[in-house]
Amino acid sequence: MPDAVLFILVAMNETYTYDKVSLLRIAFKGLDDEELEQVAALTEFRTYPPDHVLCHEGAYEDVLYIVAEGGIVISQKMTGGEERVLRVGGRGDVVGEMAPIQSAPRAATVRTTTDCTVLEMEKDDFETILSRSPRMAIDLIRITLDRIRANDQMMIADLQKTNKVLRQLDRNKLEFIQIAAHELRTPLTVLNGYVKVLHSFPETKTNPALGDVTDGILKGTDRIHEVVNMMLDLTRIGGETLKVASVPVPLRRIIDDLIRGFRKATTERNIHLTAHYAQGTPIIQGDPTLIDKALYHLIINAIKYTPDGGKVLVTTRPTLMDDNMPCVEIAVKDWGIGLDAEHHELIFEKFYQVGDVALHSSGKTTFKGGGPGLGLALVRGVAHAHGGKVWVESVGHDEVNFTGSTFYLQLPLAPSLSNGAIS
Ligand code: ADP
Repeated sequence: MPDAVLFILVAMNETYTYDKVSLLRIAFKGLDDEELEQVAALTEFRTYPPDHVLCHEGAYEDVLYIVAEGGIVISQKMTGGEERVLRVGGRGDVVGEMAPIQSAPRAATVRTTTDCTVLEMEKDDFETILSRSPRMAIDLIRITLDRIRANDQMMIADLQKTNKVLRQLDRNKLEFIQIAAHELRTPLTVLNGYVKVLHSFPETKTNPALGDVTDGILKGTDRIHEVVNMMLDLTRIGGETLKVASVPVPLRRIIDDLIRGFRKATTERNIHLTAHYAQGTPIIQGDPTLIDKALYHLIINAIKYTPDGGKVLVTTRPTLMDDNMPCVEIAVKDWGIGLDAEHHELIFEKFYQVGDVALHSSGKTTFKGGGPGLGLALVRGVAHAHGGKVWVESVGHDEVNFTGSTFYLQLPLAPSLSNGAIS
């Protein structure tokens, strides 16, 4: 081999070795030069074009990469399927670091954004190091775990920032509901007043067509009134100023009255709505008006999402909460369409609705009748305001067997909070 070629090869090798060691030093701070040289001997440089996937999320892969030159982007699939960029990186970044230590699927996808030169270490080579020098292996594992912890801390800080933004957005949503409700209330009252006057005119009384029109308008304004009141209730419960009464709650009477109030709808739709009160259900202290509202929404939903001819059962029983506090549990069980697990938490968020809203039928108690998506947010607000909780159990959406859902509301014997914020 001519001397000149040998010189170039030696020079290249030295450059590579030097580059490898300096790169490894960034990645594995704390290893001494001799150890770094040993690791370097087991690594390879490779260059990839832009948009090359180094790590595939969910795949079992064996290579650890240290970026020598170029850019990368690390992303993760969200529950909705869209891709979220966790961060962008470049020289000195270590990716796929869990591969040598653990046989687990990749937690994220890593893609090159430019031509990218990386130093690669295979799992097998890492294991060679393990067998040669347990001390170095422990150092490598410690450094890797430290870096993972630092990454976790970065992610936690990122999540805390996002959480703060979401909380602010939630406050904005509540403010919007409050402004919209107040702005709607006054013209609605005026409209209602004028239509009532129109309704009482002798011409309206003698003209059935006109009577039907005014009846229709009044029904419509009543419904909007209900929604506006629900919006105001929600802002009150979500605000800081809500005072929760602490008086004996006649639970049985409230439920019986609600059932009676729904009789017209349940008769029309042939729904068997009944209640059963377990012996020894104690009297709780709380806010009867708020509890009435919460139970109204649970029962009307059970009616709404149960097909004609179905049944709904309301039960109460004494039990203990998670912290062993005695409470009363009210369960509203329906044999309706049920709910898939992915919605079990989200339905308690304001405005959250399952399925295509455009496909909902209109009407308060008709099967799958539409609503503003505020009822369960209100129920959760009332539960929290009393120091209680609400949740749903359902094996899933099933419009063939109608396996249904059960909503549980637990209320402690006395409210443990003086006011509750909708969270
Ligand atoms: P809405 O005004 O739409 O009824 P809610 O906050 O009361 O709003 O409920 C939110 C969503 O939860 C509803 O759109 C519905 O999809 C689902 N849901 C509530 N109760 C039931 C139930 N008993 N069975 C099945 N789905 C329900």
